[in-house]
Amino acid sequence: MSDIAGAMHLFAERFGRRPAGVWSSPGRVNLIGEHTDYNDGFVFPFAIDRRTTVALGDRDDRLIRVSSTFSPDAVELHVDELSPDAVAGWAAYPLGVAWALGEYGADLEHVRGVDLHIDSDVPVGAGLSSSAALECAVALTLDEHWGLGFDRPTLAKVGRLTENRVVGAPTGIMDQSASLLGEVDSGVLLDCRSLDADVIPLHFAAEGLSLLVIDTRVEHAHADGGYAARRASCEAGARGLGVGSLRDLRVDDLDRAAEVLDDETFRRVRHVVTENQRVLDTVRTLREHGPGAIGPYLDASHASMRDDFEISVPELDLAVETAQANGAIGARMTGGGFGGSAIALVINPLVPVITREVEAAFAERGYRAPTVFTVRADQGARRDA
Ligand code: ADP
Ligand code: MG
Repeated sequence: MSDIAGAMHLFAERFGRRPAGVWSSPGRVNLIGEHTDYNDGFVFPFAIDRRTTVALGDRDDRLIRVSSTFSPDAVELHVDELSPDAVAGWAAYPLGVAWALGEYGADLEHVRGVDLHIDSDVPVGAGLSSSAALECAVALTLDEHWGLGFDRPTLAKVGRLTENRVVGAPTGIMDQSASLLGEVDSGVLLDCRSLDADVIPLHFAAEGLSLLVIDTRVEHAHADGGYAARRASCEAGARGLGVGSLRDLRVDDLDRAAEVLDDETFRRVRHVVTENQRVLDTVRTLREHGPGAIGPYLDASHASMRDDFEISVPELDLAVETAQANGAIGARMTGGGFGGSAIALVINPLVPVITREVEAAFAERGYRAPTVFTVRADQGARRDA
């Protein structure tokens, strides 16, 4: 578990002195709104109680030295040598953030160097965005320590630029927005066109509900090709219907879409259009009736991803069906698809029951054992010490 005392201790071990400050930023789960981000639509993620922590110490020179509990070696770079291609591997994330801050106008000519030690309890590659947690933790650390004065939406863009240019992953801004803007027991409704963000109380804790993550541990085998193909279908659909992006379509427009588009493109479009509506319906239902009433939207989201967008895999379907059959309020796969995790919203007493049933169902089919755990919606990036 990553904690403040632990992070300070690890910094002292690596760098031989006490850190001057500690910051952290969480991973995230997307409650609903999948493949809507690059269609200018809506997403509704929340920050989770798994965090990446950065302990910082000043230096007298202009080197940035980064170390991580994950890696035995520290990597260092002069501030004047920051560039998107300067380093490879995990250190590209923290050093890329320093470069990206400059791209957004930070004056790095006069900043002093820093030592950073990174510790985390966000599992890597489980669909909880350990990469955004790392980017956002480093972005807030450097912004506050160097007195750069960026607001959080801009820090989210710094994280996205790092992900896109330095790491080369063509992702949207959802993960960084959740990590920076999240609040306790709340979700972040993000309009991916305007980038307006609204913090919406989830009331999961107050209503005695838990959010289960079922990590199928299926690697995203066709993720890259599949993701590119889905993006291309969405662009083709928008072109065929004469709109700038699928965001501009309503559920009522789908009859016309069915006449104009080929069957596959139509189903891709139908997923995005109905998913946008489900995000808005989920938020409205939360406000009017509470979290116990949002299950049908989660279930419908999964069916849409399985049947129309075709990004599920048998393990994700089994996780979702088993949770639903054993009393979950709602369940769906989450993330880009082709593997990764499912989520299930469940009343607290059912957590052990559904965990057991999912594990048993996977064993019975001969699937690799899933990792099942709960997450709480937690505060976004912050200074800890
Ligand atoms: P995820 O779905 O968890 O975001 P990614 O592949 O996008 O998976 O990002 C994971 C990568 O981020 C790791 O391979 C590593 O390079 C980097 N990373 C994440 N957390 C840490 C950490 N605590 N220390 C060092 N590198 C990290
Ligand atoms: Mg990532």
